[in-house]
Amino acid sequence: MASFNPSTALNSKDLSGSSGEIHVFIGPMFAGKTTSLLRRIKSESNNGRNVAMIKSSKDTRYAINSVVTHDGVKFPCWALPDLTSFRQKIGEDAYQKLDVIGIDEAQFFEDLYDFCCKAADVDGKTVILAGLDGDYLRKRFGSVLDIIPLADTVTKLTARCEMCGKKAFFTFRKTAAIETEVIGGADVYMPLCRQHYMNGKAVAETPKNVIESTKVHHQTTQSSCLEAATLAL
Ligand SMILES: [Zn+2]
Repeated sequence: MASFNPSTALNSKDLSGSSGEIHVFIGPMFAGKTTSLLRRIKSESNNGRNVAMIKSSKDTRYAINSVVTHDGVKFPCWALPDLTSFRQKIGEDAYQKLDVIGIDEAQFFEDLYDFCCKAADVDGKTVILAGLDGDYLRKRFGSVLDIIPLADTVTKLTARCEMCGKKAFFTFRKTAAIETEVIGGADVYMPLCRQHYMNGKAVAETPKNVIESTKVHHQTTQSSCLEAATLAL
């Protein structure tokens, strides 16, 4: 009678060659996620490993075929609508030779989980990805959080609060748009610390007439608007 031998089953994986890795950079906008990703990809490339970089074709803010950081550093990349098409786009030979795959703005890829599983677990690739963990409402954004149980390492980066200069953990949207995906830079978003995020949120949620009437009685500082918002509830 055949019996399951766990040690044979576990060791048989070693025959398939090098095993993959998954490393994740998360954090708000302006936290240096793309910069950290590019630094890792360049260092892998300098060490003689074959690298490729992918970004979403939704994000055309800076350049179509380059990943560009907010401070202007560039790296050539594949701009794709999904990750599944990458293997076919790059070609089977080129895919086989790849050691490291970088993914920027990973929150835009709906097939992120399946792609990372296959690339790291089956194909032995090192996948390094950067993406937003939360949206402007601090709710999960896309499937970046689903990758955390798959990952070797997770690094949460912080930005600088635009109001006070302390560590910023959250992305605040300055405009009134309510869709989850509004692609923009400093014109639309700013990084804020917890206190200023809460203040800003209270101002945004306060009905216009409350803010207007508050102006008569108070200086329109953020704290007075917060007070008005609390009173309005
Ligand atoms: Zn602050």
